[in-house]
Amino acid sequence: MPLLRQVEFAFRIVAGIADPGRLGALQDAGVTAPGYNDAEQNLDLETTARELLRSLGAARIASELRVEWNSRLKTAAGRADYREKLISLNPQLVDHPTEIDRTLRHELAHILAQFRAGRRRISPHGAEWRQACFDLGIADEKRCHNLPFPVRTYTARFIYRCPNCLQEFPRVRRMRRAVACLACCRKHNGGGFDPRFRLQPLSSS
Ligand SMILES: [Zn+2]
Ligand SMILES: [Zn+2]
Repeated sequence: MPLLRQVEFAFRIVAGIADPGRLGALQDAGVTAPGYNDAEQNLDLETTARELLRSLGAARIASELRVEWNSRLKTAAGRADYREKLISLNPQLVDHPTEIDRTLRHELAHILAQFRAGRRRISPHGAEWRQACFDLGIADEKRCHNLPFPVRTYTARFIYRCPNCLQEFPRVRRMRRAVACLACCRKHNGGGFDPRFRLQPLSSS
């Protein structure tokens, strides 16, 4: 019986203002139209997470791992589902770019800890998880689910969606250029921009 682990933790209040220059680097895996060539824009959270798993001896599950933005997450910053090998991130993190990497590693620690434990049951934020946090470079990570977080303080944002794979792409600002889903462009068009996978606005809440 495989264990289903769905773990959530609340937003932490972040001290300081996020560096707006890093926004493009971490937030999504979009492919921009030809002529707009910003390498940072294409940095891929999923690739980062898979490389971390490989470097920590979890190569067997690394290629299965997926990272998604999920606007249905309301108060949790992220969620890890070991059975599905899926990390979900709250699009509201886009307003706090320094927290994206931290949240990714927090959730990845759940995946790594359960991988190492095999079929053994472990507690969500127990010793195995803390060891995984240490190995992922966030040794000081705390379980923070008790902090109430005023979600309404977040600014308006824009969420786009790939019409093919339905992956969501949160943005702080409205997109001014044609951007397509990187995963689908890689899969079906050799990584080049393909208008069939152009991201569509989902909401502007
Ligand atoms: Zn957690
Ligand atoms: Zn797609």
